[in-house]
Amino acid sequence: MIAEPFVVLKDVAKRWNGQLGVEDISLDIDEGSFVALLGPSGCGKSTSLRLLAGLELPDEGSIWIQGRDVTTSAASDRNLSMVFQSYALFPHLSVAENVIFGLKVRRVPRTERAAKLANALQITGLEGLENRKPAELSGGQRQRVALARAIVAGQKLCLMDEPLSNLDAKLRNSVRKDIKKLQRDLGITVVYVTHDQTEAMSMADKVVLMKDGRIQQVGSPDDLYNRPANTFVAEFVGAPPMALIESHIVDGVQPGLTLGLRAEKISIVPSGEGRLSCRVSEAEFLGSETLIGLEHEGAVGLTVMRPGLSMLPVGEHIDITFNDQDLHMFNEAGERITGH
Ligand code: ADP
Ligand code: MG
Repeated sequence: MIAEPFVVLKDVAKRWNGQLGVEDISLDIDEGSFVALLGPSGCGKSTSLRLLAGLELPDEGSIWIQGRDVTTSAASDRNLSMVFQSYALFPHLSVAENVIFGLKVRRVPRTERAAKLANALQITGLEGLENRKPAELSGGQRQRVALARAIVAGQKLCLMDEPLSNLDAKLRNSVRKDIKKLQRDLGITVVYVTHDQTEAMSMADKVVLMKDGRIQQVGSPDDLYNRPANTFVAEFVGAPPMALIESHIVDGVQPGLTLGLRAEKISIVPSGEGRLSCRVSEAEFLGSETLIGLEHEGAVGLTVMRPGLSMLPVGEHIDITFNDQDLHMFNEAGERITGH
């Protein structure tokens, strides 16, 4: 017997007055996995998540959770919890009261509530803060309260919509690790919406990259980074993004294609020995490395990575080289045509 995926979306579409919401969304989610819905603002991530949650109904297609068709089921019948960008905490309730609010509504007995609360506070590192009000907490602590509330719900499926976007960069990194650890420790299945490719790539087992309401690629972070399905994926994933080069400017390559090249695959060589001669357009020191931005007609996003502090003057011309095997190739429609 082949185990069926924990969650299945089949050909799901949702339109707003005939306008694009999401189209042709088909996706399998394995139990215990961490799936990121990634893409620019407005691409349909939240709509997809809300369809899965039962907060919206699809115009087409079906949604299955644990083998059950839940396409038209109420959100409350889908056995899942949600964590949103806005923490949605009650300002007049304490941390403890916020965490167990849903349990009270569901009339879970007092002793059971207390045990679940203690466990969730311990897991999220909120012990000692149970009597504070949300206003007396930092952003990171508030986000932890929202997580604790999802934990006490005890559901095997948790949906998160940009839960970290209100936090500053440093805190985002630490809560990101907390969430990942939590998901692993509890063995729950997480569907996580983010517009931040670093977040998706570092947390997810499977990344679903969307654009204009449609899925562009589903794969592991390695798939998206090293085998982008099209030029949109190539430019969206990775920092710096993949450079795109018209193939006619590179000797020895079939013209009429778009070539993709990662910064770490480019090296600077002495003048006259390179495959392209470029103008330095910017230099950005990042601590462990320096990114040198390059300009060449017919190329966008050319960047070289140099270790440590290694600035070059803007306007200087340098020669670069790269191996054919590191070139990604895309056809006129921008779709990947080779796989190496
Ligand atoms: P994302 O979360 O990726 O930023 P959304 O899923 O919120 O994107 O939105 C996808 C598209 O659907 C956008 O064009 C958005 O304007 C539209 N949309 C989302 N919700 C509604 C709504 N309730 N009514 C009308 N249009 C909506
Ligand atoms: Mg959104």
